[in-house]
Amino acid sequence: MAKQKKFIFVTGGVLSSIGKGISAASIGMLMEARGIKVTMIKMDPYLNIDPGTMSPFQHGEVFVLDDGAETDLDLGHYSRFVKDAKFSRKNSFTAGRIYDTVIRRERAGGYLGKTIQVIPHITDEIKAHIFAAAEDSDLAIVEVGGTVGDIEGLPFFEAIRQMKTQVGSENCVFVHLTLVPYIPTAGELKTKPTQHSVKELREIGIQPDVLLCRSDRSLPKDVKEKIGLFCNLPGDCVFSATDAKSIYEVPLSFADEGLDEKIVEKLKIWGGRPDLSKWKAMVAKITDPKSEVQIGIVGKYTDWRDSYKSLSEALVHGGVANDARVNMVYIDSEAIEKGGEEGKKNFELLKTVDGVLVPGGFGERGVEGKIQAIEYARKNQVPYFGICLGMQLAVIEYARNVCGIKNANSAEFKPGNPDNVIDLMENQKNVKDMGGTMRLGAYNCKILPKFQGKATAAYTAYGKESISERHRHRFEVANPFRSKLEEKGLLICGQTTHPENGQDLVEMVEIPGHPWFLGCQFHPEFLSRPLAPHPLFAAFVKASLGKAKA
Ligand code: GLN
Repeated sequence: MAKQKKFIFVTGGVLSSIGKGISAASIGMLMEARGIKVTMIKMDPYLNIDPGTMSPFQHGEVFVLDDGAETDLDLGHYSRFVKDAKFSRKNSFTAGRIYDTVIRRERAGGYLGKTIQVIPHITDEIKAHIFAAAEDSDLAIVEVGGTVGDIEGLPFFEAIRQMKTQVGSENCVFVHLTLVPYIPTAGELKTKPTQHSVKELREIGIQPDVLLCRSDRSLPKDVKEKIGLFCNLPGDCVFSATDAKSIYEVPLSFADEGLDEKIVEKLKIWGGRPDLSKWKAMVAKITDPKSEVQIGIVGKYTDWRDSYKSLSEALVHGGVANDARVNMVYIDSEAIEKGGEEGKKNFELLKTVDGVLVPGGFGERGVEGKIQAIEYARKNQVPYFGICLGMQLAVIEYARNVCGIKNANSAEFKPGNPDNVIDLMENQKNVKDMGGTMRLGAYNCKILPKFQGKATAAYTAYGKESISERHRHRFEVANPFRSKLEEKGLLICGQTTHPENGQDLVEMVEIPGHPWFLGCQFHPEFLSRPLAPHPLFAAFVKASLGKAKA
């Protein structure tokens, strides 16, 4: 008989943003460290088919997978914590996708004669999606987006409630994350919000097996006992999820609390304790590094925080590779563009950093400010890393200021301009519809190993000629301008041929002779892991440290 598949369902209550994604990912990491084949699944109750079209300011970053799926940022956390799991489109789905599947099937006659209802049709579809995503694993950790009590979340909660009966209670654990605030005026940790949250969960038929209580301090035994008593579970199933300096400390503190031990006991999975030594060594490099470096990230001020989650994590990993703390200095490109006092202030800030990074982005706002920052980095030998839009703007800057193409621009901002050094692919130029025209997911790239007898920066970083990286963009370096750019010294150090339309595409550029100036059309941040820092981030941080020490 096939091994019985196990499930851990992670739900949240009281508030959003108390770390459900990191908690789920941390449990995943601990289970994997015990030698269990783990996968992670995120179910989002909103009605968009996927987060690809949602505002990153509201929803955070869109995390792209190899297969081109545009997923929730929690898939980024899962990827960084659970190293062996392979994620695909199946691992992240929304209520929108579920309803879309059911309604299309209804139209195609798939339910002839039946009345289509939330229960059982939507809930059955949710379960079918969970089973499909869990297929290649022994343990699936399933996170339900939102908090208990949200109207649109109800079908998901009902589906997971049914799953416990379906797969058997020894194969299923419900973990519920709540908040236990410390109220200074009372000098007390307050358990009432947790009690209410669990009450709400039990009203819809779910009794949590494990409670994870987020708070700013460890919960004393008597508080755990009290919570257990009121929430109908033993006190030793109540765990503290205390605030951590680094998110990578979270699995270690869960392990100290014995959370993973309790979960495997409940799931009747027997095996040894996990070896966390490599993870601990990595965390030590984050919390107690040997040196420090300042990296300026130039973007629109609204872009910060969650919309650049993978980027800031990849910089942290680049720091780990160099035993350095990376301090991220946010520089406002719109202010630089507008000039005036604010602009001056931001430009002065730019002069203080050891490396400059222009990340991916969409839209024209702030673009000219970013180009000014790139010009500064190029001329002043400051290490520069341009990602996606950041590479496109580096090409525009080079075309304008080195090649003398004064009106160089991108078709994204100046459609129809004859000097667009950044343009759509040939076969997209007459397509009016912008939907579905992005280059998404993994593409191979060939790296140029040497130029004029010296290893290229790209090759030095990767140490190999063939790589695969993830993409999410519409525009490309325009091939007719390649020779002009190259004649004037911009080196195309990475390229690919589009597998469908056969067009040659620029994937990476660098400036030989500059300490480190590299642009890539792809998003390397999606592949960076704390235990395997991405080579470009490692190399960029190393070059910036060189400047810091100089
Ligand atoms: N806006 C640019 C494009 O669509 C860059 C996209 C990005 O940086 N992800 O090509």
